[in-house]
Amino acid sequence: MNQINFKRIIVFLSFFVFGGSQTICHAQSDLWQVSVAQVDITPTDSLWLAGYASRDHAAEGTLHKLWAKALAIEDASGNRGVLVTTDILGFPKNISDNIRERCKEKYQLTKSQIILSSSHTHSGPVIRESLYHIYPFSNNQIEKIENYSSQLENYIVTLIGKAFDNMIPAQLFSDNGVVRFQINRRNNNSSTLSAQTDLNGPNDFAVPVLQVRKTNGNLLATAFGYACHPTVLNSYQWSGDYPGFAQLALEEKYPGTTTMFFQGCGADQNPLPRRLVSLAKQYGQELAAAVERVILDTLDTLPSELRTGYSEVELSFSSPPSIEMLEKVASDTTISYQQKWAKQMLEKINNGETLPNSYLYPIQIWKLGNQSIFVLGGEVVIDYAIQLKRIFGQDIFVMSYCNDVMGYIPSARIIREGGYEGAGAQIVYGLPSTWKPNIEAQIIHSVLQLAKEIGVKIPESKLFSND
Ligand SMILES: [Zn+2]
Repeated sequence: MNQINFKRIIVFLSFFVFGGSQTICHAQSDLWQVSVAQVDITPTDSLWLAGYASRDHAAEGTLHKLWAKALAIEDASGNRGVLVTTDILGFPKNISDNIRERCKEKYQLTKSQIILSSSHTHSGPVIRESLYHIYPFSNNQIEKIENYSSQLENYIVTLIGKAFDNMIPAQLFSDNGVVRFQINRRNNNSSTLSAQTDLNGPNDFAVPVLQVRKTNGNLLATAFGYACHPTVLNSYQWSGDYPGFAQLALEEKYPGTTTMFFQGCGADQNPLPRRLVSLAKQYGQELAAAVERVILDTLDTLPSELRTGYSEVELSFSSPPSIEMLEKVASDTTISYQQKWAKQMLEKINNGETLPNSYLYPIQIWKLGNQSIFVLGGEVVIDYAIQLKRIFGQDIFVMSYCNDVMGYIPSARIIREGGYEGAGAQIVYGLPSTWKPNIEAQIIHSVLQLAKEIGVKIPESKLFSND
């Protein structure tokens, strides 16, 4: 039995038990206004693909189209929010700020009301000022990237406006499914994986699913997530990687519906094994099957109440590298992007600039009825999802790679351990040094504060638990 049939029976029964007025009242309380829109963002120019420093030329073709999609939501009291999902590596601050400022001016939407999510596909285009120094491209390529980035901003601002047109009454449902193709890439060796019988964690295999149904019960849209790098593919073809294939599989199964993917805290999780289109398709189908299981389940509707909150917390960097160290790296021609990073840092110092010692990091929370959604910036490692679920319960959704992807966001454990996500990736992102070890405590503290402000409560069962 699907949700709507179940709902209809409840409404029908309540008419006899309570009379018509209660029925209408109940039906009103879970009625939302919703609309979806999407725009093709596949580059038409020969742009560089983002995410891998090893690529040596621009894209050669398209495996499947890249999309920006928007789900606009309004609750029974007129509170609004919009979730935008995209097939790009990540929104750098400059593009995100431009989009959000324009949306404030044009549509009176605040930062708390807009989620700009990126899937982190490594088969999407390089966009403005995003990891420029790791790619061996020419100035001519930079001009093309600039043009594409301005066009992308325009597309997304228009998309958001379009999403709020033609809103229709709908009901929302949410739950977590499960799929297990993510592998902790720090604690398992990909080259010996086929012989490994015990995989090492930590992991979070949840598949958060938000479904939107029209009042006649028909599925209108599905927004779902998973915490795992979209790095099955490293070729020269545009694609959304496994999340792209998952969306295509669901759209084939449910024609006429919109499917959207948001990335979770998958910074230290890889889809393994990888590098074959057939594997990207397989993982996409596995994910789609997990989503479909939730779609077919009987769920309660989410009460029509939207709360949104946004804050920024100042995260500190450790002491910057010495000039001697930077000069040493800058003179080493065997380490290409590290050399470019050191040269950039030296240039800043020589120009009299002070290297930044902190960064304003975005945190956002939405509460859709009783479904809490925690939204973090940067490439967040799985420890954060695990920690937030320990505090707020396993039912919450956690998104990462949203609003500003400025670097990796390691946990205290990973900073202690070092490695790529704890240290090396800072150079890839052009940051001056590692984050201070209190980063995890600062972020969790700020999330707790924001949650309190917008009324997202810690479940009573968790208050006295030592879980
Ligand atoms: Zn990444």
